[in-house]
Amino acid sequence: METFVKGGAFLLESISPQEVFTPEEFNEEQRLIAKAATEFVVGELEPVKDEIETQKEGLLPSLLRKAGELGFLSGDIAEEYDGQGLDKVSVILMMEKMSQGGGSFMTAYAVHTGIGSLPIIFFGNKDQKKRYLPKIASGEKIMAYALTEPEAGSDALNAKTTAVLSPDGKYYLLNGQKQFISNAGFADVFVTYAKVDGNKFTSFIVERKTEGVSLDEEENKMGMKGSSTRSVIFSDAKVPIENMLGEVGKGHVVAFNTLNIGRFKLGGGCLGACKFALQGAVTYAKQRVQFGKPIAEFGMIKHKIAEMAIRSFTTESMVYRTAALVDRILQKIDYNAEDVGIQMANGIEEYAIEDSINKVYSSEMADFIVDEALQIHGGYGYIHDYEIERGYRDNRINRIWEGTNEINRLLIVDMLTKRAMKGRLPVLVAAQKVAGELLTLRPKVESDDGILTLQKEMVEMSKKIALLVAGAAVQKYMMKLADEQEILALISDIIIEVFAMESALLRALKSMEKAGDEKAQIQKAMVKVYVNDGFNRVEGYAKQALSAIAEGDTLRTLLSGLKKLTRFTPVNTVGLRREVADYTIKMGKYPF
Ligand SMILES: Cc1cc2nc3c(=O)[nH]c(=O)nc-3n(C[C@H](O)[C@H](O)[C@H](O)COP(=O)(O)OP(=O)(O)OC[C@H]3O[C@@H](n4cnc5c(N)ncnc54)[C@H](O)[C@@H]3O)c2cc1C
Repeated sequence: METFVKGGAFLLESISPQEVFTPEEFNEEQRLIAKAATEFVVGELEPVKDEIETQKEGLLPSLLRKAGELGFLSGDIAEEYDGQGLDKVSVILMMEKMSQGGGSFMTAYAVHTGIGSLPIIFFGNKDQKKRYLPKIASGEKIMAYALTEPEAGSDALNAKTTAVLSPDGKYYLLNGQKQFISNAGFADVFVTYAKVDGNKFTSFIVERKTEGVSLDEEENKMGMKGSSTRSVIFSDAKVPIENMLGEVGKGHVVAFNTLNIGRFKLGGGCLGACKFALQGAVTYAKQRVQFGKPIAEFGMIKHKIAEMAIRSFTTESMVYRTAALVDRILQKIDYNAEDVGIQMANGIEEYAIEDSINKVYSSEMADFIVDEALQIHGGYGYIHDYEIERGYRDNRINRIWEGTNEINRLLIVDMLTKRAMKGRLPVLVAAQKVAGELLTLRPKVESDDGILTLQKEMVEMSKKIALLVAGAAVQKYMMKLADEQEILALISDIIIEVFAMESALLRALKSMEKAGDEKAQIQKAMVKVYVNDGFNRVEGYAKQALSAIAEGDTLRTLLSGLKKLTRFTPVNTVGLRREVADYTIKMGKYPF
């Protein structure tokens, strides 16, 4: 029986395998969507991938329209606006598969189907939805999202662009510049933001053909060279009042809710990049012979392949777990209500903590994996002709956009603290309970067994460590905690590891219910390695944080509490990684 788990509650509760969705449970329709998306990549994108990189005039828009004809642009759009109204698991599957068509197409696709159109899907009124959504679904109108400004990047609300109502009350006149706008070169519509009367941050739908809208030159980027990135300039741009999105002064609601979903969808894209890079690395390692044998047979290369497979597995487990959480909450919405979009955005906000976790984790795993994949290619990986060289460059942006990873790390703790203060999540009570338990706590001595008992215990102890550190930090700094960014980042890193370890663990436990499944055995080995190493990282982050928070006797008490929570015998990760690597090499790709 599936139950509703509150956003952020994974940190406070024991979650059972039955409560999470795993990729082993994709239904027939979802599998068909994944297959069709892969066919699109192979049939439509791969033959023109070099041309895409040259920004061939009209190519990306025509590929988007082809994707539209096949239904790949309309997953998030309701049927009444010619969309498919798909579940989020399916939408993420499309993101994952499409990302294997390269960073340039992916950028255009992700912006159009994500941050470019979601503001209208969620916050558009009926008229705006009728005017735009069917054309977005087909690709007739291509979307861009223009939030960033030269002086307002992470600090997006510091926008300088203004909107002034015309004397006849029919238009807003927009003035200002938006920076680094993806799809700008060929977009038909920009969702943008400006301050009405200089202070009310408000969202607008601006057509490219609007008088007073112009573009600067293409940026010369490090990667995703086929994608378009330009400044958009508004000089008395005449935007009809019916194109104001949401309410005056509520642009931040549109902007930040859209980014929440953008972050969660980005996880799917990064996952695709992880798997693609892994497959390329395994293929190369099997072919490349040095010292008389394929390099795939060397222990250090096996270590890399195993680690890439394991981190792809944890990313995949987290991304689809989160997608299904969002789906479950969206099932509760009244789809006939006037404010259906706002209800959906609020539902998605429930998992904003998980969205930020997915964003940070998946982008860092993808960067780790493309880097190791390049290393496996040796000198050839550094040469332009090899696919991984592009993958390495293309991926780097994911740690920067949709809120930099620094900003998302801050948000994870900030959102958790706010929910605690508002009584939405009993974090403080749980933290006090852990602190109270420490004196009497006796470390459990679990041995590594066939059913992941040790790993379950380590995940539970990691949750206690997160609460111990967060509780100590809140107690010490109170309202000044926001000034202690280094400590906030360490707490975030612990929380991210908890979600990663737990997602992988619960998935493997669910798979193991099917006895004799070879894949479940490999998943089990992966979880043993990941939890062993993740737990060590958690301990390290906690030590750093506690040593900064406390001193003297208080520090000694906290560290002795931490010691009790971390008394585990390590597992043989060398042997387990070999097992994972051998299986991955045998399969020739990400093995699940
Ligand atoms: C190729 C590309 C495509 C893009 N596409 C779009 C798009 O389609 N639409 C759009 O609106 N934007 C887009 N962006 C912009 C992108 O979202 C921003 O670059 C990003 O939000 C960071 O802003 P910034 O570059 O001004 O960096 P800054 O905000 O100046 O940050 C610089 C560094 O300081 C750190 N930092 C900033 N504030 C803090 C803080 N409070 N605490 C700790 N560290 C902090 C950041 O994490 C970062 O490491 C794109 C950017 C690129 C490069």
